Amino acid sequence: MRYYFIAFILYGVFAGFFFYDQYVQKMEHFHKSVLASVKSSFNSAMNVFELANEDNYSHHADELSKFLSLLNEKNKESREEVRKEMIAYLMNFYNTQSLDLLEGVHVFDKEGYSLLRFHNLSMYDDPVYQMRFSIKKIVDDLSYSKGLEIGTNKESFRFQYPLFYDGNFVGAYEYSVSSDALIREMKKLYGRQYVFLFKAKEIDAKVEPNIVHNRYDDIQIAGESYYFKKSAYHDSIDQNRLKYIIRLKELREALRVDTPWVIEYNYNAHSFALAVTKMYDIQGKHIAYMFTDITETPKSGYLKTLLTEIVLALLLGFFIYLFIVKQIMNRAYARELINMQKEILIVSDGINIKDANDALLKFFGYKRLKDFHREHACICDFFLKEDGYLQKEMGSLTWTEYIEKYPDIRHLVKMSDFRTNEIRIFEISKKPFRNSENSFIIFRDITKELNEFEKLENRANYDTLTNIYNRNRFNFFLNKEIENASRYGAIFSLIMFDIDHFKSINDTYGHDVGDIILKELTKLVAEHTRSVDIFARWGGEEFMIISRTEIFHCEDFAEKIRKVIDENTFSHVKHVTCSFGVTQYRHEDTVDSIAKRCDENLYSAKENGRNRVVSLS
Ligand code: GH3
Ligand code: MG
Ligand code: MG
Repeated sequence: MRYYFIAFILYGVFAGFFFYDQYVQKMEHFHKSVLASVKSSFNSAMNVFELANEDNYSHHADELSKFLSLLNEKNKESREEVRKEMIAYLMNFYNTQSLDLLEGVHVFDKEGYSLLRFHNLSMYDDPVYQMRFSIKKIVDDLSYSKGLEIGTNKESFRFQYPLFYDGNFVGAYEYSVSSDALIREMKKLYGRQYVFLFKAKEIDAKVEPNIVHNRYDDIQIAGESYYFKKSAYHDSIDQNRLKYIIRLKELREALRVDTPWVIEYNYNAHSFALAVTKMYDIQGKHIAYMFTDITETPKSGYLKTLLTEIVLALLLGFFIYLFIVKQIMNRAYARELINMQKEILIVSDGINIKDANDALLKFFGYKRLKDFHREHACICDFFLKEDGYLQKEMGSLTWTEYIEKYPDIRHLVKMSDFRTNEIRIFEISKKPFRNSENSFIIFRDITKELNEFEKLENRANYDTLTNIYNRNRFNFFLNKEIENASRYGAIFSLIMFDIDHFKSINDTYGHDVGDIILKELTKLVAEHTRSVDIFARWGGEEFMIISRTEIFHCEDFAEKIRKVIDENTFSHVKHVTCSFGVTQYRHEDTVDSIAKRCDENLYSAKENGRNRVVSLS
């Protein structure tokens, strides 16, 4: 039973693990889809800006290149002149641009110096290439690039084009988009909130301190300072929730890994998720994180499903466990019941014992059925050979086939009891077990019953003192003999004898001695009668013998017995004699008539001096 309980516990643990694994997989799947959507929203937003800028570039590239080609002399006046002309040329375009798409336009000369900042017209001629990798790169490589970069004013996503005039590199044109604009664009796609978290030291290294102060809020995560853009962060995530996120242990772990990561958290009894993506600048340096705030997470739903699944699995397991326990208990009860039976019960396929109750093991002295099996296949090995009893093989049939074929006969076997060495007699009955080839075979010990029966039969037919037939039984034989004689003309004679002066034996020696004499005399007479003769006690000290002979033979026989008695030495009394009456069956005789005639002859023997035979047909 304990094993089933352990199995139930293991099943519970296994079911728990299985469903938990399902839950983890579903969550992983959800996280993957979140990360894929974050990536695609970022790429889509970047594409929107890039396409818009491609368009601008194609409009302005020729004209700007021409202006820049005029910078050859490189004197101050010429630069002022060119700048003015460029401002005049671009002003209309710049003013009509939606701020959603454009944040800054910046033109550089071929050395990497600032020539025109549309977002800060008063600042120019500074060596931007010295502080911005991207400008140095475009001057050196003359190739298009794009990406996030921190500048003197702020961090932006930049798209940079080299400009050529007559096949010669003349400068560069840069188009910037703030992270706010990118966020707005991304938000259009999935309706999510995004927050950029810049490493403070990266911002501090490039942006002027007073600008930093106005534009960013400082926040500490795991001992490191980060900047949030005030504008972006105030109207996106709930302030308190953001503070809560910042303190999450899981967030610190997410920041540590290189791949994008999703963390799940609960806030105000609500499930949220946060996607954390590392942001690299144009140079490939990690300078920021992008947080994507996910307000719709299926976590609590999945958890509810998980809980339901586990509860259902446990309930199912528990019911199965209860069912099995009940089955086992039922089997145990049934086993107990059959073991309580005194009868030997076996389940057999006709040859082998498949199962048996304790009675079998006890009877044959085995502890377990296995031990019995090791030495015997069939209980029939123990059947004793005796006529009238069932044997292992009954002609061409096996014992079980024989029982099946003759269901109405009483089938008996004799087997020896291991414990007492007594031979016991069993009555066998067989009942098919369901539809299988197996059947129940019951061995009922009827030894005692048979003995009782025998006793009753003895009491009815035999005289208890002398152990020879009593009068009742004798009458039965005499009737049969009369019937035989009347029907088939068979001959028989009858002897009746009586002990002489038996009363005086009793009187002299006591009744007990009288009994002893009766027994000794019976034994003596029995020894001198043939097995075909029927010898019985007729009453008191009177006896009868049926002899299937003619009267004269019978007379000799009576004479012989008389003599034997006369010559025998009895205990106590020494000498005993008997008187005999002999007669022969006559046609139409009845028990009474033939007995009466015999009695008359006996009477005349007494009359004539006793210890003699009177024979008269
Ligand atoms: P007789 O020679 O005329 O036959 O004389 P008897 O004394 O034998 O005759 P009676 O019939 O008068 O006596 C028979 C006695 O046998 C009487 C009875 O007490 C005794 N008797 C009958 N049955 C038994 C018995 O089973 N045991 C003993 N001890 N005595 C018995
Ligand atoms: Mg008598
Ligand atoms: Mg007598």
